[in-house]
Amino acid sequence: MDSRRQVPRTDAVLADPRLVEAAERLGRALVKAAVARAQQRARDGEIPPAAVADAAAADLPEHATTLRPVVNATGVLLHTNLGRAPLSPAARDAVAAAAGCTDVEYDLATGRRGVRGRGTLEALREACPAAEAAVVVNNNAAALALAATALAAGREIVLSRGEMVEIGDGFRIPELLAATGARLREVGTTNRTTAADYAAALGPDTGFVLKIHPSNFRIEGFTAEASVAELAALPAPVVVDIGSGLLAPEPLLPREPDAATVLAAGADLVTASGDKLLGGPQAGLVLGRAETVARLRRHPLYRALRVDKLTLAALEATLRGPRPPVARALRADAAELRRRAELLAKELSAQGVAADAVDSEATVGGGGAPGVTLPSAAVALPGGYAGPLRERGVVGRVEHGRLLLDLRAVPPDEDAPLARVVAAVARGES
Ligand SMILES: *Cc1c(COP(=O)(O)O)cnc(C)c1O
Repeated sequence: MDSRRQVPRTDAVLADPRLVEAAERLGRALVKAAVARAQQRARDGEIPPAAVADAAAADLPEHATTLRPVVNATGVLLHTNLGRAPLSPAARDAVAAAAGCTDVEYDLATGRRGVRGRGTLEALREACPAAEAAVVVNNNAAALALAATALAAGREIVLSRGEMVEIGDGFRIPELLAATGARLREVGTTNRTTAADYAAALGPDTGFVLKIHPSNFRIEGFTAEASVAELAALPAPVVVDIGSGLLAPEPLLPREPDAATVLAAGADLVTASGDKLLGGPQAGLVLGRAETVARLRRHPLYRALRVDKLTLAALEATLRGPRPPVARALRADAAELRRRAELLAKELSAQGVAADAVDSEATVGGGGAPGVTLPSAAVALPGGYAGPLRERGVVGRVEHGRLLLDLRAVPPDEDAPLARVVAAVARGES
């Protein structure tokens, strides 16, 4: 018998009310793909032909994106591969509110064009009063590219040999700067660069002096670097890439630079990421002197690098709203993390999972605070859990053959769903 005939036709399956509704919500292509998978299962004899619509309905994706939410149990607070900072509820809400038409660049009082992202720029200046003006672009790399193009194309950027930084995935800041048409003038040595080294390199060709925060490594021993105040005394504009996006000093991370301090020390511009320690959306923040910011804002490249309404909304809500998840994770009490780990381990053990609560060490991540470890706690599971949990969107860290689910970057309200996923893996559910 030809089993093909038994499988219901696509059109007939798509007429199922659940699938009609899903096509409205997700689009027809995703629903058709689920139907095709169910038809194949029927052809393979896995399910009866009459169950194709049910199987397709059960196999629909939840959202019309292949991006899947994950639980970051790696113990790395800012994990670039996991989307860095998770947005606060206030920022998520603001993104949803801004998703339709908004007055992003329109003045509702006069009916004329308005300042793009006005509220976000005001929030930035309120959060960092040392900045006369601000501009927001796609990420910190874009901020650097814009500064280099607007202030130093065809001229020189003077920077220390100790700050020729690679951020990750082959992204090297000097290569980005050189790609803008600026020439790099390296001064000093890998371990020691003084203000006099910069001073000796300045000349009519100087576009600006650039100081880059080594955000993912530390040099120790016989070292010297020029302070921002020393650089600001030189006869050239000073741009400082602080990396992490702290707008004010963070007592928990005393070695991490912040925009307010760097601007107060005399820098003309500060560049930073929005999705590192600031805890907001991917964005590049440029803060500083009004005239210098205006030169960037007026440059044609700005148009290619500016952010959309969703980012502006999320950034403003991050700045005005309650403490974002990254800041909470940074402050989480180690004893409380241990308590959560013990509770989880107990619950899982009761379900037959070989789970223990263990002490762990979390880090801020490539996004900032190199060398800083944060005391944390984790649930330790047999290493075999790593793959199946990953497939269900739970990413931990394997250490000495065991899978550690570090709780510092996991918001407390994710503990219960996390336990359910682990229990499901233990029961061998698909
Ligand atoms: C992370 C980082 C960058 C790159 O920032 P993106 O927002 O990822 O483009 C640049 N400079 C420093 C010092 C950094 O830490």
